[in-house]
Amino acid sequence: MAENKNDINRRHFLRRSLWAAGLTGLGAAAGFLSRKTNARNTVWQIDPEICVACGNCATYCVLEESAVKCVHAYAMCGYCRICFGYFGPEPHDINEGAENQLCPTGAIQRKYLKDDDPYYEYTIDEPLCMGCGKCVKGCNTFGNGSLFLQVRHDRCLNCNECSIAAACPSGAYKRVPADKPYLLKKVDHA
Ligand code: SF4
Ligand code: SF4
Ligand code: SF4
Repeated sequence: MAENKNDINRRHFLRRSLWAAGLTGLGAAAGFLSRKTNARNTVWQIDPEICVACGNCATYCVLEESAVKCVHAYAMCGYCRICFGYFGPEPHDINEGAENQLCPTGAIQRKYLKDDDPYYEYTIDEPLCMGCGKCVKGCNTFGNGSLFLQVRHDRCLNCNECSIAAACPSGAYKRVPADKPYLLKKVDHA
């Protein structure tokens, strides 16, 4: 069925708002970070275009719970009914049952947007995320890559030698300016 213009505008507004909200969250973390890193002007970050979601981010951080988390570029997301970052390769059913989910910790929330039928919104419950990258790999392989990993600077200790960077097989870890501590996926504004 053809979509009416109001529906399209509303959806576009929703996506832009969510993207802006995500950036606001990251901006707040940047403020916290600047207080933490006065003596050093750079911090560690993952280049999402180079990361191959190998799994090392979940296990090599010096913190018991990795400082790396999945983030979502809402403006890129297709709001798919079947999200390859959310569902395992052979789900029993297309619903929110734990047995159907790819994420080992249930950190991705799936919500039906009844006003935007048939769209589904996927949000990350960050305290549950361990940065394993399984969802990132799924979304990159079959989706549009709107899920990606970032070092969260409200947690990261900004170690001189990041143990994940040393274990990273793709060279995705970089030192970036402390006042621009996130490397976000590029959004197609077309
Ligand atoms: S699959 Fe891994 S990286 Fe993705 S949300 Fe779950 S714990 Fe985080
Ligand atoms: S710099 Fe240290 S705390 Fe931060 S992600 Fe790397 S190992 Fe973890
Ligand atoms: S270690 Fe490197 S390639 Fe592996 S998930 Fe982390 S950033 Fe990506």
